[in-house]
Amino acid sequence: GTVPTIDLNNGQTIPQLGFGVYQIDPAETADAVRQALEIGYRHIDTAEMYGNEKGVGQGVRDAGLDRDEVFITSKLNNGFHAPDDARRAFDQTLVELGTDHVDLFLIHWPLPTLYDGDFVSTWKTLEEFYHDGRARSIGVSNFQVNHLRRLAQEADVVPAVNQIEVHPYLLNDEVRAYGAEHHIATEAWSPIAQGGVLQDPAIVTIAERVGRTAAQVVLRWHVQRGDIIFPKSTTPSRIRENFEIFDFELTAQDVTTISLLDRGDEGRTGGHPDTMD
Ligand code: NAD
Repeated sequence: GTVPTIDLNNGQTIPQLGFGVYQIDPAETADAVRQALEIGYRHIDTAEMYGNEKGVGQGVRDAGLDRDEVFITSKLNNGFHAPDDARRAFDQTLVELGTDHVDLFLIHWPLPTLYDGDFVSTWKTLEEFYHDGRARSIGVSNFQVNHLRRLAQEADVVPAVNQIEVHPYLLNDEVRAYGAEHHIATEAWSPIAQGGVLQDPAIVTIAERVGRTAAQVVLRWHVQRGDIIFPKSTTPSRIRENFEIFDFELTAQDVTTISLLDRGDEGRTGGHPDTMD
């Protein structure tokens, strides 16, 4: 099966499955990205804070693909929320990637450090990148409902996506529902909780019944719920395994069973947006 695309609120489309490169060593990133692209991935999720944008750009070139064949996302460094800093950082992102545009650029976290303005002025700076075409879409990450409401009241462009932590132990339903209601696509980060959900007995039982791995079952659960995902791995067999999730289906009962594993905030693997700065 091929990777479905999701329609964003601005007419752009994004492949529902991508390849995440958080915690991939900058020196190994080009190789990992090239391998993912050879397997068939066409969407890469990086960030300024990952320090590996240069490797992402190199991996795309090494794979022999045209720039327009790959959807590339990057994200603004937390320390660069002030408008002039954000402009410089975005310029540098394009230099690192070796491209004249990104497909999607995000505010990585809502709470800026070292800056006495707030994310609304940062968002208005991302709107500049959107209007000048250097970011085909713009969005946010780790935004809570109150943050999204402020943008709705004070800004012009509705975020195309909100990239938040979502997996079977953290459904993040309230933020996800706000997105669904306002045409903001949900991107689920740490889709397998960095491996933390793969031993869950309920998931293992389903995996054994359908003859798939636990990782494939959880990724398939996300796909059937409609979220965008980009699992990370540097192991070639796992990069392939995580891509092979479009030739089987979970029952509605399986989807419900997995959703009932939600632990709320207890299930978080990463920082809480309200306290993280
Ligand atoms: P993930 O849920 O994708 O898990 C990755 C880890 O799970 C790997 O390091 C490996 O140990 C294991 N793994 C992967 N495939 C496996 C398989 N098939 N079988 C067994 N184990 C497997 O975690 P992640 O990397 O944190 O999240 C994915 C991507 O989400 C990141 O690379 C990044 O792009 C994005 N992300 C964004 C934010 C944010 O604040 N916006 C935060 C974290 C991650």
